[in-house]
Amino acid sequence: MLNTTTGQVLINAVLPEHLRDYSRVLDKKGIDALTEQLADEKNPELYRKVMHALYSVGHMSAQSGGASFSLYDLRTPVGTKVALDKLKDQVTAVTESDTLTPDQREAAVVKLVGGQASKIEQQLYDEALKSGNAFAQQVHSGSRGKKGDLRSLLVGDLLVSDHKDRIIPMPITNSYSQGVDPAQFWAGAYGARRGTIATKFQTSQAGFLAKQLSQAAHTQVVTSEDCETSRGIPVPADDPDNIGTVLSATAGGLPAGTVLGPREIRKLKGKTISVRSPLTCEANDGVCGRCAGIREKGGFPEVGDNIGITAAQSLSERLSQTQLSKKHSAGRADYAEEAQGVQGFDLINQMVQVPKAFREAATIARTDGTVKSVSEAPQGGQFVVVGDEQHYIPPKFKVFVKPGDRVDAGDVISEGLPNPMELVKYRGIGAGRLEFTNLFRDAFRKQGMPANRRNIELVARGLINHVRVTDLDGPNNTLPDDIVEYTSIERNYRPRYGHRKGMPKISVGNYLERPVNQYSIGTRVTKRVAKDLENAGIIEVSYHKDPPPFVPQMVRAMETLTMSPDFQQRMAGSYLQKGLLESVHRGRSSQISGPSYIPGLMRGKGFGDKLKTHGVY
Ligand SMILES: [Zn+2]
Repeated sequence: MLNTTTGQVLINAVLPEHLRDYSRVLDKKGIDALTEQLADEKNPELYRKVMHALYSVGHMSAQSGGASFSLYDLRTPVGTKVALDKLKDQVTAVTESDTLTPDQREAAVVKLVGGQASKIEQQLYDEALKSGNAFAQQVHSGSRGKKGDLRSLLVGDLLVSDHKDRIIPMPITNSYSQGVDPAQFWAGAYGARRGTIATKFQTSQAGFLAKQLSQAAHTQVVTSEDCETSRGIPVPADDPDNIGTVLSATAGGLPAGTVLGPREIRKLKGKTISVRSPLTCEANDGVCGRCAGIREKGGFPEVGDNIGITAAQSLSERLSQTQLSKKHSAGRADYAEEAQGVQGFDLINQMVQVPKAFREAATIARTDGTVKSVSEAPQGGQFVVVGDEQHYIPPKFKVFVKPGDRVDAGDVISEGLPNPMELVKYRGIGAGRLEFTNLFRDAFRKQGMPANRRNIELVARGLINHVRVTDLDGPNNTLPDDIVEYTSIERNYRPRYGHRKGMPKISVGNYLERPVNQYSIGTRVTKRVAKDLENAGIIEVSYHKDPPPFVPQMVRAMETLTMSPDFQQRMAGSYLQKGLLESVHRGRSSQISGPSYIPGLMRGKGFGDKLKTHGVY
């Protein structure tokens, strides 16, 4: 006997026989999985037919059965009501307490209600779903609304934040269906106002970020099929983002040059492998197809594809969406989120804009040496002395090191968010880019957003690509303090007089004279770098005892265009006057056939028409 529901029978009747399942839950995820299965059938006609039939089933049942709710669905479930009443009593106890100052009282209320909010929300959802509440079922299906919306509807917003993300210490314990009192109404109005403001500002913020990412990555055009580099970056083999990349070194019996698919990845499981990456591509301009790897549509990208822009767009698209979700939460505050500090959009924005005051920055060792002491600082927090340098760690962060530990400059020695600018400064362009890629992806993942590592690699290559010249003997046509693009230096760099070659182990304490794997020219070889290179099977590196005549420098995404050697590219960025004057002083030219679309676009737009009519060219 078949034990099922009418709905299941109706839906299964339109499915092909082998896909029928009378106990399948068709929420949003279930429908996604089902349509994916259908698409896998490789029968477009069947797919079209089934989808159309499903649509008709939906139509028919909406007309005959209807999707409706009654007043009963607006009642707060009993169990939740008990929990809510208990919370209200606790809030009253705090607000009437004589021993607290007003500030302490507010903080206590926020902490109390904030701590309970998600618990009550979950209880409500479970209870309402069990009792067949129409709204809860709608949330469960994933079609519309979230648990938080159910909370507002049946319990109350509990806490809202204002336009500056400060939580208002006035808990809203009445639901929209019950109606709120004037004080709660005003508090709620702040939340609504925040929602309105979010629509205005957060879309533009997300748009601005998208623009910056595109500016930084826009020269990452595919310029050749294969740059034939042997360099790669170390990655764990089971990272699903490896699918479509090319092995740069033999691993687990697979030769270098193997394109990784799901089968290869299963075979290499548990190993650290070295794969080709935009970070280590040695193409003259832009990137090569092999280092970029197989793209979404299948196959290596073609010469001329602007994969940098695509990458920047696919990353910023996700970000815009999370920014917009704030608008839909109508200012409801999530206490847990507040406690975690800078994250999500703000963190990603911070990583790209690299402000002078990096919020919640982790402390990074500024020098090599042994940790001499870890002591309490008089202002709170702790001092960590490495060699002769004293590092300060703010009170809320844990210290990762203890006296006697050996650290290298660039090591993260406390909790917090590592500032990419500092990582690049101490660890070099190459290692900094890789670290940036990982941090950036983590920031996305924590928000529940998937972000393909290879897209981030493309952005990282464009973004972290500058060095500051430190010596008169610097690269051609540069003066000390000039900021120039690293890729052009790498391309033209000739190893200096006095460089040596040897095993990575021997080169510790020296500076790399040739780039190797993810490490760029000028990277100071530490024990860890040497070990990393040995693990990757590198037997010989080229090094010099002196640092090269430039130091790595991370510039803000906004400024990448203004540092371009091509004067027309600069015109698409900011600080136009400065850029134009500097270009005139240095006699900078422009390259219409280069990887940037900007000079070509300007030419097409008729830039310089005036000059032509005056016979200048
Ligand atoms: Zn390449």
